[in-house]
Amino acid sequence: MVKYNIVVLGGGGVGKSAITLSFTRNQFVEEYDPTIEDCYCKTCTIDNVECNLDITDTAGQEEYRGLFGDKFMRQGDGFICVYSITAKESLDELGPIRDQIHRAKEYGPCPIIILGNKSDLHQFRQVTYEEGHAFARQSNALFLETSAKDRINIDEAFQNLVMEIRRQAALSSA
Ligand code: GDP
Ligand code: MG
Repeated sequence: MVKYNIVVLGGGGVGKSAITLSFTRNQFVEEYDPTIEDCYCKTCTIDNVECNLDITDTAGQEEYRGLFGDKFMRQGDGFICVYSITAKESLDELGPIRDQIHRAKEYGPCPIIILGNKSDLHQFRQVTYEEGHAFARQSNALFLETSAKDRINIDEAFQNLVMEIRRQAALSSA
């Protein structure tokens, strides 16, 4: 079975661990220890083809600097870049992260989905849908708003990313 390495990146507290756990274990955790690196696996059928997802949930952005981060990024087949719709600065943090991914992948194929998480907290919204979408478009990435808490668009995020990984792989082998 094909295995895809998926790396979840973004600033602290945006919901990387919550998204990963919501997807792999169908559970929402209010308090979750920050982790440097944690690995989760899940087998799923996407577009009628089974695959194994190996998901790396990373800690805050400061950890990504230097070779440590580049290693994850080179090994990633696809990237989930998360910000919180309740924190404008968390979207700003994704620019340098996206650039680091592109560098690590030597400007070759690099499937990315940008997630505006915590969409359930609309009363605290600081980033509009359009702002998130525009950032994704200029990054050549897919985009969804998600709620790990209400489990909205979580499966879709992983499915769309895997379909994009396959699409880009088919293009580059053509
Ligand atoms: P990480 O540092 O990016 O891994 O963030 P966590 O997954 O640890 O989440 C940080 C905090 O935000 C925790 O208290 C979570 O319960 C909360 N959180 C994560 N996702 C959501 C969400 O979709 N909605 C709400 N309301 N809270 C969330
Ligand atoms: Mg975490």
